[in-house]
Amino acid sequence: MTPAAIAALGVEGVENYIKTIGLFRAKAKHLVQTAEILRDRYNGEVPEDREALESLPGVGRKTANVVLNTAFGHLTMAVDTHIFRISNRTGIAPGKDVLQVEKRLLKLVPQEFMLNAHHWLILHGRYVCKARKPECTRCSIVDLCEFKKKTT
Ligand code: SF4
Repeated sequence: MTPAAIAALGVEGVENYIKTIGLFRAKAKHLVQTAEILRDRYNGEVPEDREALESLPGVGRKTANVVLNTAFGHLTMAVDTHIFRISNRTGIAPGKDVLQVEKRLLKLVPQEFMLNAHHWLILHGRYVCKARKPECTRCSIVDLCEFKKKTT
């Protein structure tokens, strides 16, 4: 679907497609606004540029990093709540905020893994190293992890 087609749907039209996800009203509004900007200013293309991406409605550093990495192959690291938690918990890239964690992971993760690293880290955080109760007994990096309160 092109930005022009999304813009033509309008907010209510987009809501119908995404109403099963959280904050769908705000997301639908941002999607339509973004589609209008892409249609009018970028010839219907997503810009390959951090500043331009972050100027779009609802797009912050994390989303810009996802787009730059996944769509354009840039070696960026999108730190979400899962990656922030496991980076601190395991001790691989501790940081007091997401930017600090992002910078540490960028130094730590080997270049050849940078295109998919954020997906793997998110999946590890979502399904194994969960926020409330990490499943340390079935964790494949239990011997490397520095978390002091591992579950048994
Ligand atoms: S051992 Fe436990 S705390 Fe450490 S990464 Fe695995 S699941 Fe998370």
